[in-house]
Amino acid sequence: MAEDSETKKVFDAEAAGSLMKELRGTYASGKTRSYEWRVAQLKNVMKIVDDHEKDILDAIRADLSKPEQESYIAEISIVKSSCTRALGELNRWMKPEKVKTSITTFPSSAEIVSEPLGVVLIIGAWNFPLLLALDPAIGAIAAGNAVVLKPSELCPATSSLIAKLVGKYLDSSCIKVVEGSVAETSALLEQKWDKIFFTGSGRVGRIVMAAAAKHLTPVALELGGKCPVVVDSDINLPVAVRRIAGGKWASNNGQACIAPDYIITTKDFAPKLIDALKHELEAWYGKDPLESKDLAHIVNSNHFARLVKLLDDDKVSGKIIHGGQRDKANLKFAPTILLDVPEDSLVMNDEIFGPLLPILTVDKLEDSFDMITSRGKPLAAYLFTNNKKLKEKFVKTVSAGGLVINDTVLHVITLPFNS
Ligand code: NAD
Repeated sequence: MAEDSETKKVFDAEAAGSLMKELRGTYASGKTRSYEWRVAQLKNVMKIVDDHEKDILDAIRADLSKPEQESYIAEISIVKSSCTRALGELNRWMKPEKVKTSITTFPSSAEIVSEPLGVVLIIGAWNFPLLLALDPAIGAIAAGNAVVLKPSELCPATSSLIAKLVGKYLDSSCIKVVEGSVAETSALLEQKWDKIFFTGSGRVGRIVMAAAAKHLTPVALELGGKCPVVVDSDINLPVAVRRIAGGKWASNNGQACIAPDYIITTKDFAPKLIDALKHELEAWYGKDPLESKDLAHIVNSNHFARLVKLLDDDKVSGKIIHGGQRDKANLKFAPTILLDVPEDSLVMNDEIFGPLLPILTVDKLEDSFDMITSRGKPLAAYLFTNNKKLKEKFVKTVSAGGLVINDTVLHVITLPFNS
């Protein structure tokens, strides 16, 4: 929709205004409110992923070289389970909820009736390009809203497939896709929305929030952060290492908001943990990970250069203990482990969002909780231990969007998480 090849019409503020006018009209007609309309759209979202599983896997492979199995688990299956849940719960969600009244208002009755918000905008990020567009759309449709979806331009194959399939399967008078980047998103943001759901960086989150504030539009901002992993010595090491490596490198090669960002362990245990991680990495990606088909590439040259800058920082010189290889032409970046980088290095202050994994060592593991809390609230925090007291202290002391003990990233499937 960014540019029509025949008319060369760009999606600008005028186009955004016409789009909004049309959606306000269809929303006002009440079409999106009915149970039947919501169910029909949700079933068709399911049909999109069922009928086009291979097209979707191919598109994500083209954009990110993400292995099919990874895309299936982290994108398609989550979209399907969100659809199944919404279809199963919709009746209950739409039912008015009776509320007890007070003696002072006797003999009144009261109930809470959920209503749609109106016309909502969903802006997606590139790292899970299908999931981050369709999953919020499922919620918006189930709630009876008209929806505009803006997938990430950094995954052009997936973005254009989403535009094509949403146009074909869903009610195009109420659900639209706008493809494009900054200009198109800025044009959309000038409109008055009833809710904006944004996934992406804090930098752009601020732009979205400022645009929303002009119209007092509520926003949901799903942003990033640095997710620590605390590793005790009292663990099943091979299992822990598989789970850390899975959450880091098998999650889009570290390009995931809840991927482990850095590890904290004790000085004594670090050599054992590092050996086990190296062993696992070689088993998964071979001696030359740049040749592996199981490792996603870095999304584009800007992000590649950003990661190189983190490694070129003088403060991390000599700290790479594994990996570091990269292939700029193919945007391939090997799993890389750094040991005891200074806390004021770039890699310990920016969200890494890639295959670098610093390991910091402490004398006593308990010290790690204060280190985490002193750095601001992470999106997720992980602990590997079998020590009951340590688990309890972790839950009491560390505040994060989500806490997981003895695994990484899996909470995203069952629990909510907040940025
Ligand atoms: P981004 O902020 O660069 O882009 C996100 C969206 O904003 C894209 O659709 C893009 O077109 C649009 N955009 C970019 N610049 C804009 C501008 N100047 N004005 C208006 N719109 C603009 O983020 P990204 O690089 O796509 O995603 C990576 C970030 O997303 C990371 O920080 C990651 O942690 C975060 N993320 C968070 C979650 C979560 O659920 N919390 C999930 C995935 C990714």
